[in-house]
Amino acid sequence: MLYLSNDKLELFFEKASEKLNVYVPVDTGKGASYKKWEKGCEVSKALHTVRSAKDFFFPQTENLVEFKMDGKKIEIIDPRRETEDYAVFGVRACDVRSFGILDKVFLSEPVDSYYKNRRDHGVIIGLSCSRPSETCFCTTFGIDAAAPMADVDLTEADGGYFFKANTEKGSAFVASLGDIFEERDEAKAEEAKEATREIMKKLPLANLTTEGFGADKLEEMFGDARWAELSEACLGCGTCTFVCPTCQCYDIRDYDTGHGVQRYRCWDSCMYSDFTKMAHGNPRLTQKERFRQRFMHKLVYFPANNDGEFGCVGCGRCVASCPINMNIVKVMKKFATEADND
Ligand code: SF4
Ligand code: SF4
Repeated sequence: MLYLSNDKLELFFEKASEKLNVYVPVDTGKGASYKKWEKGCEVSKALHTVRSAKDFFFPQTENLVEFKMDGKKIEIIDPRRETEDYAVFGVRACDVRSFGILDKVFLSEPVDSYYKNRRDHGVIIGLSCSRPSETCFCTTFGIDAAAPMADVDLTEADGGYFFKANTEKGSAFVASLGDIFEERDEAKAEEAKEATREIMKKLPLANLTTEGFGADKLEEMFGDARWAELSEACLGCGTCTFVCPTCQCYDIRDYDTGHGVQRYRCWDSCMYSDFTKMAHGNPRLTQKERFRQRFMHKLVYFPANNDGEFGCVGCGRCVASCPINMNIVKVMKKFATEADND
């Protein structure tokens, strides 16, 4: 198996940066976030970036089209350009799975060409987890934290990294780096992976189950009285949706530039009172309805429309970031433990 010792990691980034832009997680005063690699850049040891890597394909804001007005003449400007080739380093298994979920939304007909353009040009370099957190529950959704299944997977072991390419794109990327690797027996990598799997079994959320959720629960869950209690303290701040790697709602707005119109899209949140507001008003008038929408979407509607696949990957970001300590885990536990309460 291909292996690279820790002291060659800098060389790896240098070589890769000659071919494409490489983004790595770095520590900031407010947690880890992605930054373009440059010499001397220190890669964060944090388990997660605060915001997920979905920004690379589905940025928080992007221009869709511009209309330039000159008297009665309107010029339509398409801002799309061939996207740069880039690689994203250190993506955990949960976030890698989230791209598959976003693909189901953005790459099904009609294909979102803005998303596809970025997706096609990005190489995802996964990194097996070695120190999962108490807020992690990716195993609930059948994800193996030790095998991200990205274009290339890295496993930290034996004083370096073991590399495994899973896709053609990944193989081409590894091959483009020349002879910086050495061949080593994969036993140490397998040991490290097993150690991760053992830790996962002992985490506080290891037994969280999706049993009781899914496509067939729509009517039963929709009218359940527990939503009122669960949503009571929700501030509608939208933090949970903005840190979530699978949340995909957006708004499209026009901005008057003074000499035309800039049409852009930006992330939106089903937790906001003006979300999907129409001429007649808002279809979800209370926070209870908005709160229910978020969790029904992930646990019932999404699997109903996508062969049973849930819309959560158990990354735990919402568990760590909600200001009132409400999250999908609490919702799942409430419905699982009090199934007969109504
Ligand atoms: S669940 Fe928490 S993070 Fe999400 S909108 Fe409500 S208060 Fe904000
Ligand atoms: S709902 Fe929470 S745990 Fe699930 S993917 Fe989103 S942020 Fe992660």
